[in-house]
Amino acid sequence: MLHNDQLEHWDRENFFHPSTHLAGFARGNQPHRVLTGGSGCHIEDRDGNRLLDAFAGLYCVNAGYGRAPIAEAIADQAKELAYYHAYVGHGTEASITLAKMVLDRAPDHMSKVYFGLSGSDANETNIKLIWYCNNILGRPEKKKIISRWRGYHGSGLMTGSLTGLELFHKKFDLPLSQVVHTDAPYYFRRSNRDQTESEFVAECVASLEALIDREGADTIAAFIGEPVLGTGGIVPPPEGYWPAIQAVLERHDILLIADEVVTGFGRLGTMFGSDHYGMRPDLITIAKGLTSAYAPLSGSIVSDRMWKVLERGTDENGPIGHGWTYSAHPIGAAAGVANLKLLDSLGLIENAGSVGSYLNATMRDALTEHPHVGDVRGEGMLCAVEFVADKVGHRFFDAADKIGPQIAGKLLEQDNIIARAMPQGDILGFAPPFCLTREEADQVVAGTVRAVTSVLG
Ligand code: PMP
Repeated sequence: MLHNDQLEHWDRENFFHPSTHLAGFARGNQPHRVLTGGSGCHIEDRDGNRLLDAFAGLYCVNAGYGRAPIAEAIADQAKELAYYHAYVGHGTEASITLAKMVLDRAPDHMSKVYFGLSGSDANETNIKLIWYCNNILGRPEKKKIISRWRGYHGSGLMTGSLTGLELFHKKFDLPLSQVVHTDAPYYFRRSNRDQTESEFVAECVASLEALIDREGADTIAAFIGEPVLGTGGIVPPPEGYWPAIQAVLERHDILLIADEVVTGFGRLGTMFGSDHYGMRPDLITIAKGLTSAYAPLSGSIVSDRMWKVLERGTDENGPIGHGWTYSAHPIGAAAGVANLKLLDSLGLIENAGSVGSYLNATMRDALTEHPHVGDVRGEGMLCAVEFVADKVGHRFFDAADKIGPQIAGKLLEQDNIIARAMPQGDILGFAPPFCLTREEADQVVAGTVRAVTSVLG
C-alpha cells in the first residue's frame, strides 16, 4: 500500500479536482482527504477517522454506504457483460428492467425514460429534446429556457447556463443567450419584509409574467426548476408556488422540466418532488438517487405528449441523432435495479420522510432562538440552517467572513460530522442518507449546536 505522504504528493501534483480552489490545493493549504470505506451513514478515511456523512456524498448516497446487494449486482453484471451500447434498439435485462421500474414509479402521464450518466447530461438531453420537438411542431423560434436564480442544473455549457449561481458563470462566458433567469422562490430572502407568503408567491408569478411578456411567449420553450431549490440554499417553495407557476406556463404553452436530480426517488419522503408539490412536468430529470451513486447513471423521463412529437420527428427525419456511448450502461442499470429494490425492501423512503421530519423539527427547536440563526428550513431528508449577522435588521454576514464554511469546519473537527457549506450565502446544508436513525439525527443536531456556538457564540 502507498504511504500517505506519497499519496498526498501525487494528489497535489496530478489531480485536477472539481469545484476546488486549484492554486490553494496545489500549494497544500486546502484540505486533502482520502476515503477508504463506508457503512450506513458513515465513511472512513485513510487517517482512521470515522465520519457521519450528513450530506450523503453530494446528496446522492441515498441508500447509505456499504450496501452489499447493490455491490453484488454491479459485480455480477460486470462479470456477465460489462458493456454493450443501447443504440438502435439494443439493451440488457438490467436496462430494460430499470426503465420499467422508473416508469412504474413516475407520475402516470410519463411515457419513456432516456438514460444518461450525470444530472448535467440529462438536462442537456432535456433541452435538446425540447428544441427538437419545437422544430417538429414548426415553431423554430420558441427556444429560450427560463431558469431561476439560485437554481442548480449542472456544469455543462447549457446546464451551467441554467444554473443560476454566479460562481458557475463567472469567467466561463455563461450564461448562453438562450437562457433567461427569473426570481428564486426564496421567501426568507424576500426584499419586502412585510410580505406574507402568498403575497410573495404573487410577486414571483408577476415577475415571471413580466419576463415572458418582455421576451415574448413565442420565444420561450420551457421553464426548469428543482421542486426544492438545492445547491442554491436548500429552499422549499412557499405554499402554493408550483401550482401558481404552472398555471402561467400552461397559459403561455411553456413546458415544465422538473429537475429531480436531488428529490427523485424519495428524498422528500415521496417518490418524486413532483408528487409532493402537485407538479405536472413534461420532463423529469433523474440521477443521484437512481443508483444511490453506486454507479453513474441519470435519466430524462419524457411525458406522453412530448413522446408523440418525438415519434413524429423520427418518422419524418430518421433515428434521433442523440446518444452517449454509455447511455443505459449495463453496470449503472444493474446498480439502479438493485438500489430501487433496496429502497422498497428496507422502507427507506418512508424513513427519509419520518426521520427527515424529526431532524428538521429537532434542528428548528435547537437553533431557531439563536441570535445569528435567521432560518431553519427543510423538507423530508433535506435541512438547512441559514446564518445572519443581525436578525432584527435582517442583515447578512460579509461573504469574506466565510461563516458557513467555518461552522461546517468546526462540525467536522469537533464531532466528525459532515454537513455542506452551501456555495452562496452562509447556509449549512444537511441531506443525510435515508437510513439515518433518530439517534444519528440527534448527534447531527447536537454537533451543529456546538459548532454554531463555537463560531458565533
Ligand atoms: N440538477 C440538480 C438539481 C443537481 O443538484 C445536480 C448536481 N448537484 C445536477 C443537476 C447535476 O448533476 P451532475 O453533477 O451529476 O452532473
